[in-house]
Formats: sequence, structure tokens, C-alpha cells
Amino acid sequence: MGRFDGRVAVITGAARGIGFGTAQRFAAEGASVAIIDLDESAAAEAAGRLELTGRAKAVGIGCDVSDAASVDAAVERLVAELGGIHVLVNNAGITRDNLLFKMTEQDWDLVMNVHLKGAFLMTKAAQKHFVEQKYGKIVNLSSVSALGNRGQANYSAAKMGVQGFTRTLGIELSPFGINTNAVAPGFIATEMTDATAARLGLGVEEFRELNAKNNPVRRVGFPEDIAAAVAFLASDEASYITGQTIYVDGGAKLVS
Ligand code: NAP
Repeated sequence: MGRFDGRVAVITGAARGIGFGTAQRFAAEGASVAIIDLDESAAAEAAGRLELTGRAKAVGIGCDVSDAASVDAAVERLVAELGGIHVLVNNAGITRDNLLFKMTEQDWDLVMNVHLKGAFLMTKAAQKHFVEQKYGKIVNLSSVSALGNRGQANYSAAKMGVQGFTRTLGIELSPFGINTNAVAPGFIATEMTDATAARLGLGVEEFRELNAKNNPVRRVGFPEDIAAAVAFLASDEASYITGQTIYVDGGAKLVS
């Protein structure tokens, strides 16, 4: 028996990276899974790669989480196709790094819109169902960058904003049987950090080794590390935990 048998888990930005790793984890533990991503064909292809159990189903849906109409249509569609919604993971994310004096207004807005407005719109669409059924689990992706990171004024502000959003939902939604928590990853090996390596003029392996060397557990993180924490927070074992942010970073922020 899986922890998520009979449940429907929705993960945004899940065509790859941490989102896909999390989708795999929910599928392995019995859930039906909706993979939401910008590109519908990438989302559908990723959904097709999930190893489902029992009578669980998977669907891939193209949706821009920063667009209200797109979000509402995606949530209604997945509820119709998978028969409900029980877990929402707000994972979709982008970076547009630059030092403040070079950061454009567009790059500020883009990052805010995907991380913060995206989480707001998805949560608003899902909570209607959660409140009605008096059950729901929301897990938001923050970051160690919330604590401050050179070249990431936009991303850092958005990721700390996610923590404030999470705490407030903990207050507002918990009386309705809805837990809201956040996971704040450190360095995780995905295309997002590979792109950072390229921007810094470093090779992918070189950048990963550098980060591993400076990390107390002497390795970089992988999507599975984050998926494990997300799945725990979305499980009924964590029903007395709400409004919290858990740092999953190998202790990186303890030493920097
Ligand atoms: P990733 O590999 O870049 O994947 C992000 C996914 O989100 C991509 O598939 C992307 O689609 C999708 N996406 C972007 N904008 C979207 C939108 N408006 N609507 C729907 N989907 C959208 O990133 P990741 O490393 O897995 O990161 C996942 C989350 O963890 C993000 O919130 C990130 O900020 C956070 N995080 C990551 C790290 C890390 O070290 N990797 C550390 C801390 C926090 P496209 O490919 O089409 O753009």
C-alpha cells in the first residue's frame, strides 16, 4: 500500500528536474499525477514516462502558471480527467539572474510572476476543491536563495515571498483540513543549475564538484532528495505540520 493510493497529486513545472522527480515519487507511492508545464507535449511525454501503480492515471497539461485563465482551465481539466485533486506542489520556476543595477524590469516581473503569482493562482484554483472536501496538501518550492544570493535579487525576493505565502496559508487554510508547507532546496543538479554553470563560464561537472566540496555532506542534491521531503509534507504523517519551510540543502546554509 502506498501513502498516496487513491490521491491525485498535481505538480507544476514537472516536465523535468525537481518537479519530475517529485512526480515520480508520488506515482511510485500510488498517486494519480498531473504534470503541468509550459509545453503540453513535454508535459504529456513526462506523464507517459511515469511508472504508475494500481489504477492510477497520469496526465500532462500545458499551462502557464502565471496566467489565470490557463491555470483555471488546467485545474478544471485535471480534476475532470483524474477524478479530483488532493496534493498541489507549486514547483514551476525560472531564473533571470543579474546584479541589481543590470536587472531589467522585465526580468523582475517574469520571476515574480512565475514563482509568486503562479503559486497564488494555482493555490486559489485548487483550494476551492480542498475546502469543499476538507482535505488538501500544498507544498511550495522556496530556496536557500531566499536568505540572500548575489545576482538574484528577483529570485531571492520571490523565494522569501513564497515562505510568507506559506505561513499565511498555514493560518488561513489549516482549519479546513489543508496543510501548507514549503521546501527550500540548496544546490540540486538540474537544468536550472546547469544553466547557472554556463552563465558563470563553468562546466556542468566542474560546477557540481565545486558545490559538493563546500557542502557539509560533500555532495550536491538530486531531485529525489527534494521529492522525499515534499512527499513527507504532503502525507498524512505530516498532518500536524503547517506553515513551515524545511531547508533541504545538505547543511549548506549552516556554513555560508
Ligand atoms: P528546471 O529544471 O528549470 O524546471 C523548471 C520547470 O518549470 C521547467 O520544465 C519549466 O518549463 C517550467 N516552467 C517555467 N515557467 C513556467 C510557467 N510559467 N508555467 C509552467 N511551468 C513553467 O528547474 P528545477 O531546478 O527543477 O527547479 C524546480 C523548482 O525548485 C523551482 O521553483 C526552483 O526555483 C526551485 N529550486 C531549484 C533549485 C536547484 O538547485 N535546482 C534550488 C532551489 C530551488 P520550460 O522548460 O518550458 O521553461
